[in-house]
Amino acid sequence: MQFIDLAKQQSLIKASLDERIQAVLSHGKYIMGPEIGEMEAQLANYAGTKHCVSCASGTDALLMPLMAWNIGPGDAVFTTPFTFIATAEVIQLLGATPVFVDIDPKTYNISPSLLDKAIDSVLKEGKLIPKVIIPVDLFGLPADYPAIEAIAKKHGLKVLEDGAQGFGGMIGDKRAGSFGDAASTSFFPAKPLGCYGDGGAIFTDDDELYEILTSIRVHGKGSDKYDNVRIGINGRMDTLQAAIVLEKFTLFPGEITLRNKVADQYSALLTDRVVTPFVPENYTSVWAQYSILAKDESDRQHLMTQLKNAGVPTAVYYPKSLHQQTAFNHLGYKEGDFPVSEEMSQRIFSLPMHPYMESADIQMIAEVLTSK
Ligand SMILES: *Cc1c(COP(=O)(O)O)cnc(C)c1O
Repeated sequence: MQFIDLAKQQSLIKASLDERIQAVLSHGKYIMGPEIGEMEAQLANYAGTKHCVSCASGTDALLMPLMAWNIGPGDAVFTTPFTFIATAEVIQLLGATPVFVDIDPKTYNISPSLLDKAIDSVLKEGKLIPKVIIPVDLFGLPADYPAIEAIAKKHGLKVLEDGAQGFGGMIGDKRAGSFGDAASTSFFPAKPLGCYGDGGAIFTDDDELYEILTSIRVHGKGSDKYDNVRIGINGRMDTLQAAIVLEKFTLFPGEITLRNKVADQYSALLTDRVVTPFVPENYTSVWAQYSILAKDESDRQHLMTQLKNAGVPTAVYYPKSLHQQTAFNHLGYKEGDFPVSEEMSQRIFSLPMHPYMESADIQMIAEVLTSK
């Protein structure tokens, strides 16, 4: 059994995928070819935003808006410690200071009430200037944007949605990608909408931000690549990868439905043995991961071993909170600073999740878990 089965998906679109790839090989515009604009238009339309700027990775999709907003030394950027390193890495890369805020124990997303308190204490301390909040749509579930956006407004901060795992999720009829001042996503192969390499995209309604992002993407270009008006990066997505996303995107809405069916079946079978994922009323998850909580660290080890013996792969996202990572030692956090995040990192693990999972496999996994 595979943790994420990309081969099944590929078999469904093999012929059209080959055609798309062949079309790029024929026109030869490997950098910023026509598939880039075609994909950006389709994704902006889907997310419900005015603009989409594709880029080289989900990491660049976080870095570029922060660059556009001139985030740097002396600035505080608030985010969750229970996420992939990229979310906080980009803050540090620009010389700004990541300020971690603990998570909600049910959704695993940043806690709005703790966020409000963290902003207040940074203001009171007077050393850093609060600038941006980066909520993460962890495991595919949108963060609490109604509450977060209200807090941002109160303090005059920008919100950058880290939608690397969240693209396709919704709150009511508003889609991930449309929250905050800008949003990012990633097309890393294992994400809900992936390509066959690295890629990412930024979404925004802000015309001025859009112009700056397209400049940053190509070395800070002005009127052309050899007129440089700001410091930028080589942040372009490959045309070939855009062609692949375009073809996979035809399956995407149906895949979200299938992912939700898998999650529903898991949850119905597992509720009595482990803590199953919580989806608040009116929220739709895109189930980048289906993550459950064991009783404690040794129960998790036991359950993961039982599954491994039955041929079922599992994974732990995330075994270490970011404030416990060596790379962030200089921030001076200590064990116990973010108790919810720390507890989850000891209890959580993820089960195989992809749109094409067989019902019988889910049944088997549930039997292994509930019999131990
Ligand atoms: C995957 C991921 C990223 C980074 O995306 P890449 O395309 O791998 O650079 C950022 N944030 C989160 C939450 C992610 O899961």
